[in-house]
Amino acid sequence: MDTRRLRGFVAWTIVLAGLGAVLVRGYEADVPKRAHRGLQPPPPPVDIVRGAFERNATLSTTLAAFGLRHSVVYEISEAVRPVFDVRRFRPGQEFTLVRDPAGDFIEFEYAIDEESTLKVERVEDGLRARREQLPLDVHVDTVAAEVNSSLWNALAGYARGDRLVVELDGVFRSRVDFYRDIRAGDRIRVLIEGLYHQGRFVKYGRVLAAEFVNQGRSFQAYRFGDEYYDENGMSTRRSLLPAPLEFSRISSGFSNARLHPILNTVRAHRGVDYAAPAGTPVMAAADGTVTFAGANGNYGRFVRIRHGSGEFVTEYAHLSRILVGVGQRVRQEDVIGRVGMTGLATGPHLHYQLMQDGRYIDPRRARVDPPQPIDEALRADFMRTMAPHQVRLAALDGRSALAAEE
Ligand SMILES: [Zn+2]
Repeated sequence: MDTRRLRGFVAWTIVLAGLGAVLVRGYEADVPKRAHRGLQPPPPPVDIVRGAFERNATLSTTLAAFGLRHSVVYEISEAVRPVFDVRRFRPGQEFTLVRDPAGDFIEFEYAIDEESTLKVERVEDGLRARREQLPLDVHVDTVAAEVNSSLWNALAGYARGDRLVVELDGVFRSRVDFYRDIRAGDRIRVLIEGLYHQGRFVKYGRVLAAEFVNQGRSFQAYRFGDEYYDENGMSTRRSLLPAPLEFSRISSGFSNARLHPILNTVRAHRGVDYAAPAGTPVMAAADGTVTFAGANGNYGRFVRIRHGSGEFVTEYAHLSRILVGVGQRVRQEDVIGRVGMTGLATGPHLHYQLMQDGRYIDPRRARVDPPQPIDEALRADFMRTMAPHQVRLAALDGRSALAAEE
């Protein structure tokens, strides 16, 4: 680098650092005033434009409309290309364009979705584009509802109520069957992490505590570390997942005699049919070894997994895709295939079967392992964490089983 270029580079660095400081201050305008603000010199003007992508607009036409030179527009597009598909700019999504007083480009920011932004900024040797996850604040959100027909209906009024149902099913599924056990007057209360960006709800985090009062009986679950325990410190985990997928409904339960929808004959249905969109991931119900993976007559694409000593065997039928091979070791919740309707099936669903000691049993009713108590060394710590959550849950609507006992 010769002296002239070096001098130019240094000068630019100073200018950019200054502008960077201005930008940071500019973005702080929304937050409450700080005590020392008045002592800072007034920021030199930068031009900040906020807008939204219009229908049929491209990145180039949008930037050109604000008077950026074609060479700069081209440079920005080239910088963006490796990190973001330029055809993916969606109408209505907001952007911010920052220029210096001379109208030269400094920074471009685009809201890709609720959780991430695309940022293009000037650096020493040109432009740099990158995707950034938005910083999220964690709040504790509360949910309290009466459940009369289904958990879906009860939580429909909550932001992302569908997501809540999936989370709660994960917490309670070892003890409660939300598809069969619901009775009018049941209640659900939840403390769950809500993730927010600048006060706007983005998504749910982890369930911290939950109580489901089912037919007058209270089921409680408290998160501690990565596990859930009930109010007595008993683990809520089972060694086998009762449902190896996120499903929309049970289209057919386990029975020893039912009318087959296609064959129109009375046959045993020794499994559970979980209706779910084609392509939904199917998980291994527990750690095990794949003993069959391939076409299997009416069962279509089929996987069989042997668990532990072979006391339990699980089977997964009608898959559209198989993602494991015979002999492969799998861990609980590994994706082994995708929901489909291969073989004899009227629509996409997973036919799931569980065998214990060579006999098919109802996977929704299987009592696989007795619940395990929390490690004695952790018990006191758990109780200290659990107690305030229990009190808070009970206070959510004043009608919990806990409150009733007092
Ligand atoms: Zn079936």
